[in-house]
Amino acid sequence: MATDHTTPPAATPSAVTPSATAPTVAVPPTTAARTSVLPASLTPALIQRLAARVVAAPDAARVTTNAPYTGAPLADLPVSTPADVERAFTRARITQKAWAATSLTQRKKILLRFHDLVMARQDEGLDLMQAENGKTRRDAFLEVVDIAVTSRYYARNAAKYLEPKRRRGAIPVLTHTTELRHPKGVVTVISPWNYPLSMAASDAIAALMAGNAVVQKPDTQTALTALWSLDLMEEAGLPAGVWQMVVGRGSAIGGALMDNADYMMFTGSTASGRKIASDAGRRLIGASLELGGKNAMIVLDDADIDKAAEGAVAACFPSAGQLCVSVERLYVAESIRDRFVAAFVERTRRLKLGAAYDYSIDVGSLTTAAQLQTVREQVEDAVAKGATVLAGGRARPDLGPLFFEPTILTDVTPDMTLCEHETFGPVVSIYSYRSVDEAIALANATPYGLNASVWSGNGARGRAVAARVHAGTVNVNEAFAAAWGSIDAPMGGMGDSGLGRRHGADGILKYTEAQTVAHQRIQGFTPPPGISPETWAALLTGALKVLKAAGVR
Ligand code: NAD
Repeated sequence: MATDHTTPPAATPSAVTPSATAPTVAVPPTTAARTSVLPASLTPALIQRLAARVVAAPDAARVTTNAPYTGAPLADLPVSTPADVERAFTRARITQKAWAATSLTQRKKILLRFHDLVMARQDEGLDLMQAENGKTRRDAFLEVVDIAVTSRYYARNAAKYLEPKRRRGAIPVLTHTTELRHPKGVVTVISPWNYPLSMAASDAIAALMAGNAVVQKPDTQTALTALWSLDLMEEAGLPAGVWQMVVGRGSAIGGALMDNADYMMFTGSTASGRKIASDAGRRLIGASLELGGKNAMIVLDDADIDKAAEGAVAACFPSAGQLCVSVERLYVAESIRDRFVAAFVERTRRLKLGAAYDYSIDVGSLTTAAQLQTVREQVEDAVAKGATVLAGGRARPDLGPLFFEPTILTDVTPDMTLCEHETFGPVVSIYSYRSVDEAIALANATPYGLNASVWSGNGARGRAVAARVHAGTVNVNEAFAAAWGSIDAPMGGMGDSGLGRRHGADGILKYTEAQTVAHQRIQGFTPPPGISPETWAALLTGALKVLKAAGVR
């Protein structure tokens, strides 16, 4: 695995331990006052209405979620049991039949109305995402954009993928062949907490557009945001029961969600993904797995240093690093390393860390205590083994229970946990390299392969390097949004980062069964009366030679 070849640049501070560091991140003075209460839009009535959408018995056990900014209780949600999951699937099997019979035009109208509703009610959605996840409003807004783009794309392009297609028949003219696409039936969608709107709605949108019903388990911590998207989709016209949500632990209801599914769409950690894949194998159903990563950014020696430093901030710290495609390993050409590091550290130290239900903050809170613990332990482990902290490096309980400063490390070695393991927090390690081949080898020295970023002053050179990186998406002179936002193109992971793709044709066709209907108009596979099998074989051999010579594909 990668090691650092160089010493820290003169422009950066000497090594400091997290506890000895003076605050390196600006805190807006109004932060504490702003976060002591939930925003006005999140009324108890709204929260109760959304919670009531969970498929659960009236006397269901309850679970309380807490707002990451403050730790205060946020929602009281019913907990679904395996019997509730069965009930959801029973209803879904009925509603799906009628839904599959609707026209693509009708589904398109609903998705476009959903697009408009998400845009119009975005403030409520942004408040919900921030309250449940602790992210900044800017990061939450990207999810609104993602959902708008996804619903518009599948509304306007699904027909191209789903309508019956004529295919070349076995025997030209005599065989009339059509490819049909049938919905799988009822799709299970399991989604994580880090992008609560994007991860909940975007995969469901494609499944619904293809004529499936969806039973979804959003992560409990961010279930309200997922339920909000369901609420808007029904307001847009989706019949009740076509998209349903259950809440509960994977260990409690995961079995029922798998055993009833016709297809499994899972987003989460690689460890969970392996179990899901093995269960899907047992059931012989398809599964799409969007899993973890240890994403690399390569800064080539001809890169614009200021732009690359700005790009590194955008790549490493969105949603406090709790983004599957964010960068945790940064490889910089040795010749520009010192200047790049100085520019990156300087920008990172200027980031405003805090909580506010407006656009004034750069980096928000982590979402769960478990995530904070992982980040803290990994940084402490690295520092104890000799890593140097160039920025951040410590938790900030003065801002809220789960804040951690955007952190840049160097002198990271393979014996440190964060060198190879996903941190899923605002922590990046900088390494340097001497040749492009070495940079690519270092970037590829991981079992993961989700996303990468390459920076160069020469677009063609950047693209050539990108093509050699083992990752499902690679952005040139951009962090992650260029590839993620290219919704017409597939997005997903290689290696331990997953199986299957979302977006584009792959992102909707996976929710369908292909069926080939071939109508043989005149018999042509057996010898006609009066022709011996030998003569028939000779005739066919001649015909095949002619077809090849004529360039027929
Ligand atoms: P996780 O795997 O622990 O949980 C994700 C979701 O799956 C949760 O809702 C959880 O309850 C559920 N779950 C877990 N095991 C289950 C089971 N056996 N049956 C049914 N449900 C089960 O992941 P996490 O730590 O909560 O999320 C962060 C991880 O997700 C990171 O590794 C991150 O990289 C990854 N992620 C990947 C993408 C992507 O597109 N590749 C996107 C977002 C997050």
